Amino acid sequence: MTVREFKLNLFNRLLQDLGRVRGSSASRIECPICFSAFSRSALDSGNLTLEHIVPESLGGVTGTLTCRACNNHLGSNADSRLVETLRALNRPSPRGASSAAERFPFRDIQPSVLKSAYLAVFHEKGYAQILSPAFDPIRESLRGVLPAPQCLDSLFSWNLEPATDVRDEFHIRESADYSEPAWIVTLRLKRKTVRACAVILPRADSDVGRLVAEVAKVRREVSPRVREQMKKEEGRFETA
Ligand SMILES: [Zn+2]
Repeated sequence: MTVREFKLNLFNRLLQDLGRVRGSSASRIECPICFSAFSRSALDSGNLTLEHIVPESLGGVTGTLTCRACNNHLGSNADSRLVETLRALNRPSPRGASSAAERFPFRDIQPSVLKSAYLAVFHEKGYAQILSPAFDPIRESLRGVLPAPQCLDSLFSWNLEPATDVRDEFHIRESADYSEPAWIVTLRLKRKTVRACAVILPRADSDVGRLVAEVAKVRREVSPRVREQMKKEEGRFETA
């Protein structure tokens, strides 16, 4: 299958899905990030582009379609920071350096990780999920309207240790841990070493504000145990 045919298949699949959700036969699909509408000809003009869910440079092979503007904006800003961070994590840390968590603040890589998790939900669950207002704060932060989405911090967890047991490039499951419905998206990021990252995302029928508050509360309650675990992991990383 050529790349053109591959993109056309994706386009037709998204067109059908959007038609189902909107209850009409659409001739244009919408970019999952900015909701601009594009007809089939945008595949040839280059205005609709193939975007890897997990960046290709980190081992991602599955793709979806986003508009050129969103692809460029997120690719050059967000993905490059994630790749750079993973590369740096592979290098031995200099003597006397601060902890890995301080040297690689998670906030730097959040936009790229958030985009991958969001596109994974879009790819697997379709427009019915992402067209819900529950995803508005996620999209706003992706578009750069909220460049530092501190309110979403508690939704991320990231393990600095190599995670060799993670096989799928992304994996989505329904969470049963919170009273609000949520997706747990695990991402496999490979730059020589495989590391894993998990993001909690709302489901279409959840109240994102309540979900974020609940996750933050659970994190605070377990924090002494988590801190202890992180200390151990950072210790192992520093001596690696
Ligand atoms: Zn877009």
